[in-house]
Amino acid sequence: MLNETTLGKFKANLRGELIQRSDERYEEARKLYNGMIDKRPLLIARCVDVADVITAVNFGRDLDLLIAIRGGGHNGPGLGSCDDGLVIDLSMMKSVRVDPATRRVRVDPGCTSGDVDHATHAFGLAVPFGIVSTTGVAGLTLGGGTGYLTRKYGLTIDNLLEADVVLADGGFVTASQSLHPDLFWALRGGGGNFGVVTSFLFQAHPVSTVYAGPIFWEATHAKDVMRAYRDFLQTAPEDLGAFVGLKTVPSMDPFPKDYWGRRACAVISSYSGPVEEGEKLMAGLLKSVPAPIFNWMGAMPFPAMQALFDPFFPKGLQWYWKGDFVKSLPDEAIDTHIAQAAKAPSELSLMHLYPIDGAVRRVPKDATAWNAREATWSMVITGISSDPKQADALKTWGREYWKSVHSFNLEGAYVNFMMDDEAEGRVQATYGDNFKRLASVKAKYDPRNLFRVNQNIPPTAS
Ligand SMILES: Cc1cc2nc3c(=O)[nH]c(=O)nc-3n(C[C@H](O)[C@H](O)[C@H](O)COP(=O)(O)OP(=O)(O)OC[C@H]3O[C@@H](n4cnc5c(N)ncnc54)[C@H](O)[C@@H]3O)c2cc1C
Repeated sequence: MLNETTLGKFKANLRGELIQRSDERYEEARKLYNGMIDKRPLLIARCVDVADVITAVNFGRDLDLLIAIRGGGHNGPGLGSCDDGLVIDLSMMKSVRVDPATRRVRVDPGCTSGDVDHATHAFGLAVPFGIVSTTGVAGLTLGGGTGYLTRKYGLTIDNLLEADVVLADGGFVTASQSLHPDLFWALRGGGGNFGVVTSFLFQAHPVSTVYAGPIFWEATHAKDVMRAYRDFLQTAPEDLGAFVGLKTVPSMDPFPKDYWGRRACAVISSYSGPVEEGEKLMAGLLKSVPAPIFNWMGAMPFPAMQALFDPFFPKGLQWYWKGDFVKSLPDEAIDTHIAQAAKAPSELSLMHLYPIDGAVRRVPKDATAWNAREATWSMVITGISSDPKQADALKTWGREYWKSVHSFNLEGAYVNFMMDDEAEGRVQATYGDNFKRLASVKAKYDPRNLFRVNQNIPPTAS
């Protein structure tokens, strides 16, 4: 029973804030990154430490409340929140500790990747995360994590050494290769299904100055560029992280005015070896394709590259996501992409293909829950707009685009690029051979599916 006494007791046991619907801060506190999602939780517990998280899990479970776990709040379908339930909000837990001797980094669950980049860069180090610095480390990591360093150092989960977890029964464990290895296996790709992670330990790598930035071509050259990129990537050194995208030239400075609002093809890269080598490498690609509209690659600190897109994507835009894993990119698929991308309903809407080859392939398929190690790219089609009136158009475009290219792709998709309106069986297809094992780990650690606001893996005892 949720009455004043129960609530008062809960509040008194928290070091962090408890925000209710009647509170002034409620409207701001419930907002998610994706403005398309409008969830109204009953309570938001802003935890500041592990004890708060244990208190919140026990409270939510004992009162039979729906529980959502919120890290960075970036998730497409808004799985960091819920209607009429309890949000365990970790955004106040933001400490990062770098050990330069071991190159290990201890990260709190409320950190964004920018928080970690900031801390590690001071030591000339980086952990592989995604390409927008405001994204939460927690959700990104638990789903897998792809970015510029993936080809060289693997997925984010391939660099996870240990995680502290508050379980559904309120218990606390550390999961690693030697401690609760079944849980550690499931956490690496299985999302927020298994408990609340209160601390991550990552292996960082020496990455400091990179040769990086975007190159844009007119859409009329997209076929040549996509084919050349596809072939070039096969032999490109793993120091190069480079994704290809179908986008629009933003209608703002410093983009060349003549091209504002025109559809384009882009290759966006970061080379983490010596700058001169990166220049030489990219010159090879550039030689094989028509001249770009602009080439803004140059030497920069890695965190600057990680934050390059942040200004285009402030909190509150409308986002509709569709994804697929992609094994190969035949010419016919490229043609279909170009035709569909040309129908984008807004300037920000895009399609990206992120490479997941290189080091990702050196980890066996059953070594972590992440099952798509034979894929070559993770594709994302994202309808984005600042105008809520465009929500339906973004969805229609995304679904139509996805339908027309899906037959070229693998069955599953990156869980962090899915909405929650996917066809039944899509999560299972994503985890493939690992699904059964995930369901049995879920049955061991969360038999009553307390943590179900996620791309859910229902518990099934094996
Ligand atoms: C602009 C943008 C760019 C992106 N770029 C990339 C990219 O380059 N690479 C990439 O891999 N992904 C990328 N993503 C996708 C991103 O990985 C997901 O949106 C991810 O869910 C974000 O994590 P979060 O902590 O911010 O999310 P939240 O919304 O807070 O949570 C997402 C999910 O994770 C669970 N969760 C969160 N914290 C915890 C925790 N501590 N313990 C247990 N479960 C938890 C939640 O229950 C929820 O199911 C991008 C997203 C956006 C919006």
